[in-house]
Amino acid sequence: MSLVSAKEMLQKAKAGKYAVGQFNINNLEWTKAILLTAQECNSPVILGVSEGAGKYMCGYNTVVGMVKGMIETLGITVPVALHLDHGSYEGALKCIEAGFSSVMFDGSHYPIDENIEKTKEIIRVAGEKGISVEAEVGAIGGEEDGVVGGGEVADPDECKQIADLGVDMLAAGIGNIHGVYPENWTGLNFDVLAQIQEKTGTMPLVLHGGTGIPEEMVKKAISLGVSKVNVNTECQLSFAAATRQYIEEGKDKQGKGFDPRKLLAPGTEAIKATVKEKMELFGSVNKA
Ligand SMILES: [Zn+2]
Repeated sequence: MSLVSAKEMLQKAKAGKYAVGQFNINNLEWTKAILLTAQECNSPVILGVSEGAGKYMCGYNTVVGMVKGMIETLGITVPVALHLDHGSYEGALKCIEAGFSSVMFDGSHYPIDENIEKTKEIIRVAGEKGISVEAEVGAIGGEEDGVVGGGEVADPDECKQIADLGVDMLAAGIGNIHGVYPENWTGLNFDVLAQIQEKTGTMPLVLHGGTGIPEEMVKKAISLGVSKVNVNTECQLSFAAATRQYIEEGKDKQGKGFDPRKLLAPGTEAIKATVKEKMELFGSVNKA
């Protein structure tokens, strides 16, 4: 199966009261681990690419080539969307051109009127190619803006304004943050989530910063209309821990343990385990 827009998979998720995971990719191992796990779990999946990761992987064309090649060679049949995460206006246009099947335009740092204008333009260009669009209202705290603290909370009326433009999914801050949650985090704001859901109706909502939110809160958010959960940091932590263990146990010094295919294998397996755990939590297993 070639790449698909995230629209249909998220509408199905919204109707079925589960969520599809967006897992960010950084390299070949990441991508392979996530695709294989999605196939094994018979789950739809969204591969997220930040602008920084896109640059690291030598540009969006390289990413599209790698992902499409893997889908074919690994015989992946579950729906896969390749999605730009927190894209700038220019970045979103570049990804649409390069062959991504979904983009996020993060105009949350613009005044609402400018956010609306730019979002409309992205929707127009993406729409011509059948590419899905995610927009954001109310900046999500954490490393995104260099400050770790309580997450911001979006204005439900602004959410409705952006939703009405015709985006396919909407990210709204409900106290969630990127990166590792601080000790004094006060939790998700379910009242605001319920208000946003009420105003935006069938619009799939997106929960960013999925790492470290207690499972019960994630489940409740999904029951209140969240259809996409973004996971990034958690895979990085799993990969790093498994790689550290391999080195600390001196396995790179045994036989051909220094072979990169051996050295990176435990980290890759750890990503698979994390992704599987998340797909089970989100309820997307066997929903391909
Ligand atoms: Zn995010």
